[in-house]
Amino acid sequence: MDAQTLTHAMTQEALAEKALWVHARLCAEYGCPVPFFRHDDPLEELISALLSHRTKNSDTAKSFNALKERFGTWEAVRDAPTGDVEACIRFSRWPEQKAPRIQQMLREITARQGDLSLWFLGNLPLEEARAWLDSLPGVGPKTVAATLLFSALRRPVMPVDSHHHRVALRLGLIAPTVGEARAHVLLSDLLPEGWDAQQVYDHHEVLMFHGQRCCYFRKPDCHRCVVLDVCPTGQARLEPA
Ligand code: SF4
Repeated sequence: MDAQTLTHAMTQEALAEKALWVHARLCAEYGCPVPFFRHDDPLEELISALLSHRTKNSDTAKSFNALKERFGTWEAVRDAPTGDVEACIRFSRWPEQKAPRIQQMLREITARQGDLSLWFLGNLPLEEARAWLDSLPGVGPKTVAATLLFSALRRPVMPVDSHHHRVALRLGLIAPTVGEARAHVLLSDLLPEGWDAQQVYDHHEVLMFHGQRCCYFRKPDCHRCVVLDVCPTGQARLEPA
């Protein structure tokens, strides 16, 4: 299928083919496989993901490290006065909301499992592991995917962050009205069923990199974009007035 056909085809099969084509082009641009660099422990990845909401990576790391240094264990974080947890995570946005949410989540995991370990998720069928995390208070699809994929569990579940979402919208992989939560389902459905964690991770990372390095929120740099030939947004932007 050529690039022109890919741009205009709207069937699920054609969208899936377009997603693969974009994947190959962006992998060539940014380099795949992309090394994993997150927390090994799934509980730590879960907490980090909750801290990262609307927060820069460097500030997320500051909050996470402050929690570990101040309390030492996640049991101590769970049982601490909420104000102390809030003070530790002040580098993240909305610490007053995140502190009680993290403690509530830690209490819920303890109540269900008897301890604070999430390694058992590696032994559950993927859909069960996803549903278990999704049912925790304050945990949405991006946090579920980050916990399962970025940690040493390495389960093939794709997160969609704001960069990934914006690039997918502009490329026409999802309709303009699709929000980030729904995008997790629709964009995952475009990927081959047999893809392993590394392939799923690469796909997320290269779309995110593209959003950070070329397809900017305000002024996307379409002139130098390597997927311009399948991007209806970029082609419309560059059309002569
Ligand atoms: S052509 Fe422009 S709008 Fe489309 S993906 Fe590239 S930078 Fe983004």
